[in-house]
Amino acid sequence: MKVSEDAVTTHKMDESTLRRLYLDEGLSQRQIADELGKTRSQVRKKIEKYKIPTRPSGGQWKNIKWDGSSWVTESCHSKLHTGGNGYEMWCPKVNGKIKTFYHHRLLAIAKFGVSEVKGKEVHHKSGVPWDNRKENLEIMTPSKHAAHHSRQRGNN
Ligand SMILES: [Zn+2]
Repeated sequence: MKVSEDAVTTHKMDESTLRRLYLDEGLSQRQIADELGKTRSQVRKKIEKYKIPTRPSGGQWKNIKWDGSSWVTESCHSKLHTGGNGYEMWCPKVNGKIKTFYHHRLLAIAKFGVSEVKGKEVHHKSGVPWDNRKENLEIMTPSKHAAHHSRQRGNN
């Protein structure tokens, strides 16, 4: 009886479990999938559903952590660099903390305004993730963006 209850608890992917593993413990989506016996896409869908902020990937920083409102890091290779995934990353020091941002999101905010960009994704029309010319950036809802890329089979 006890054993089966534990098994159920272990495999539950509720919001608090995901937030603890992903934000507090810093596990990757793949590690969470392994830990909970789920597939990576199941984990990704739940993270989207609960609107858990996703960790920027591919940047040249050390120990990136969620501080409750944004991603912070212990050290950053350079303030503006191109990450391993091709996206330009910006890590300025704000109030003594090194924060991390996607450059294209900051540029989209400059172009469209915070309220327009909040909750949306920024798409690169040319398909080149480091092509951050203003006219190359377009804001889309996450579902429209995902649909666009599943048709194109691209990733930016
Ligand atoms: Zn895109």
